Amino acid sequence: MKKSGELRYKVFWTWDHSTNWCMNQPGKQNTGVGNLYTKKPGVFVEDYKRAVDFCQANGIDAVGIVGMLRDGHGGLEAARRVCGYAREHGVRIYLITGLFSYGGIWYEGDSEFSLDRFLQKNPECMARWVDREPFYWTFSNPHGHKRQPIGCPSSKALHNFIMDSLDYVFHAIPDLGGAQIESGDSFICMCDACRERRASMRGGEEQLPLTSMSDMAAIYPDAADVITRRSPDAWVICESYTHFLDCRFFNDPTSPALKALTGMPENVFWQWTCDKRLRENTWTEKDRLPEPMRKFRHIMRAHHGTQWVGGRHTLAVDEIRRQCRLSYTSGIQGVSIFGEGSDFHANAELNYKALNYFAKHPMAGNEDFAKDVMSPLLGGDEPALRYLELGVLNKTPEKIRKSMPEFARTIGSLRDPDAIRRWTYLASFLSTFAWEYEKKAAQNNGDNVDFNI
Ligand SMILES: [Zn+2]
Repeated sequence: MKKSGELRYKVFWTWDHSTNWCMNQPGKQNTGVGNLYTKKPGVFVEDYKRAVDFCQANGIDAVGIVGMLRDGHGGLEAARRVCGYAREHGVRIYLITGLFSYGGIWYEGDSEFSLDRFLQKNPECMARWVDREPFYWTFSNPHGHKRQPIGCPSSKALHNFIMDSLDYVFHAIPDLGGAQIESGDSFICMCDACRERRASMRGGEEQLPLTSMSDMAAIYPDAADVITRRSPDAWVICESYTHFLDCRFFNDPTSPALKALTGMPENVFWQWTCDKRLRENTWTEKDRLPEPMRKFRHIMRAHHGTQWVGGRHTLAVDEIRRQCRLSYTSGIQGVSIFGEGSDFHANAELNYKALNYFAKHPMAGNEDFAKDVMSPLLGGDEPALRYLELGVLNKTPEKIRKSMPEFARTIGSLRDPDAIRRWTYLASFLSTFAWEYEKKAAQNNGDNVDFNI
């Protein structure tokens, strides 16, 4: 492949409770936000060691963890072990944390760094909804179980608590590689101080009604400063919750929010999301990062191959190719996908390898990836190209049963146990979709459906 430039940073995004790199563990979960941690506590460290080993071997630079600090899997000591192991293996672990929401720095447990506990003791620091009552965000099944208090972004006492918590965590975990900081994407505080502050900061809230660039401007610069003073090489990743094309306040050069955010150090990362734009095909190779943001580093993240987009462990090579290509042509330096599933799941393994490959070769095609990377894993060029076609049959489950004899022939012709495992995995994975499709069809149509080959 001829080199055309590359995306320098390849990143995994994970929730602690649904990250499953060790197989056959009781209590594993496959979805959720705000869930309890339900595996045995020690599995947390082992899961992430496996993820780090894979990252080291496959060019993934960093793993972000939501829920890294929680009592349910060992708190500070377990986090130190994971971060230390990663650092020894050349991989960076960073904390993904809400600042005003999502439990704060200490995701769950009886810690002095828990936002829930702080707001319980200091209810005057809570956000207010339109009725002026203290605001709680409720996560309900299947996406969690919590009812969590939300902080007011205008509260000075809360601001100081967050800064002290960040400072302490980077002090207590010297190998912590950074933090993805979030202001919250499910609310805006409707207290008088916040309404006045947002009006004067002009952060473009009218375009993004559930999040606020003015709130980001009120805390991201100070948070970045505290983190980098304590840990100069730490990554500070500012979550934007949006695609840069959907954030039009960049066009207002007099916005005080923009001025505050663009005054941050140039080594800060800004993180964007692209699922909707990729799905709707509304992000093109002509689009560029907004001029005021070009001096920073940037990561474009997506939810391919997860319960959020496409289905967990589904093959997303083409989507990852487009994510990398358009990130590259937009002037972005990094890409992120979910890294929760073990590479035992052949589709997940290939997605991860696709992230590394297309980050290094952003203008390459799927055929290049099949020949350069998939071929030795799947029994040759021809089977690799075929895997790309068969691997997405979950989208057309009525075709799966007819493909099974081809799976049998392919598997029968192979001698490499790992290639056999990957093909067997795909056959079994797809069969679950055929099974469900046929059960539902039979329920809807009686016994008259002929599923024979
Ligand atoms: Zn407020």
